[in-house]
Amino acid sequence: MFARTSLATLMALAGAAPVLAEEVNVYSLRQPELVQPLFDLFTQKTGIAVNVAYVEKGMVERLVSEGGRSPADLVMTVDIARLAQVVAAGVTQPVVSEVLAANIPAEFRDPGNQWFGLTTRARIVYASKDRVADGEVTTYEDLADPKWRGRICTRPGTHDYNLGLMAAMIEHHGADYAKEWATGLRANLARKPEGNDRAQVKSIWAGECDISLGNTYYMGEMLADPEQAEWANAVRIVYPVFENGGTHMNVSGVAMTKAAPNHEAALKLMEFLSSDEAQKVYAETNHEFPVKPGVERSALVASWGDFTPDNLNLMDVARARPEALKLMEEVNFDG
Ligand code: FE
Repeated sequence: MFARTSLATLMALAGAAPVLAEEVNVYSLRQPELVQPLFDLFTQKTGIAVNVAYVEKGMVERLVSEGGRSPADLVMTVDIARLAQVVAAGVTQPVVSEVLAANIPAEFRDPGNQWFGLTTRARIVYASKDRVADGEVTTYEDLADPKWRGRICTRPGTHDYNLGLMAAMIEHHGADYAKEWATGLRANLARKPEGNDRAQVKSIWAGECDISLGNTYYMGEMLADPEQAEWANAVRIVYPVFENGGTHMNVSGVAMTKAAPNHEAALKLMEFLSSDEAQKVYAETNHEFPVKPGVERSALVASWGDFTPDNLNLMDVARARPEALKLMEEVNFDG
């Protein structure tokens, strides 16, 4: 109370000239608990406030309809296809920054500077410690083999994460093969696709299936939750590869809106998110892979072992997404 009074007094004294508070407005498709610690740190360091609107659906439509009057400066989302959609809608602007160019490797940012990757994640297999032997899971292609009949769980095939994987399958092997693969995978499912990635691990724990598809960081999230830790401890992470490539990767990223009323402050936030300090938070708190070279994975993430990231260009994966959705619907993957 005393400290607060003193501070208020000081502020009143200093307040002869009004101070314009700087701020940044962010539309985020990322969960609040994942990005808030980063924004808090940014505000602490710069005094710039970050206002976040969590936009679950219709982000692109909203930005299009708001046009030049949009209050949003930045858009933050997961998935390369979603980043590509925002850019394709014409609601972003290129950002030229030496800091961003130095911190983010070229393969994780748009050649036209419209979007910037901030973290990567792998789409991997969670395998039952009890019922799946070491070396039994090898490739994504193999998941369509009848030997897995009734043993696989996954979230819906039309979810962005699985569409990214399907799009990569199309890029590696062509649409005909990918359709056949999805048909085989569907035939191997223990049950109709439902729930999120963690719900599939719970199903393995409950004995309903032996392997599931999921993103890497969910292992970290489950281990941090008393109830879910039990599910996590029933499985181990396996990094499958494409027969002619590596493990499927995706990104989370950021783009600046065309409107960006707080352009300078927004640029500062973008650059901060690519800095060692923020990249470390992404690694330690969110269990994601930092994009900035030299920033280490967390000890937990490192304990899952090394892997070879797939070599596909992310923009090619984004480009194949509409076809991936069409094929998933054709094979009635979620039906
Ligand atoms: Fe996720």
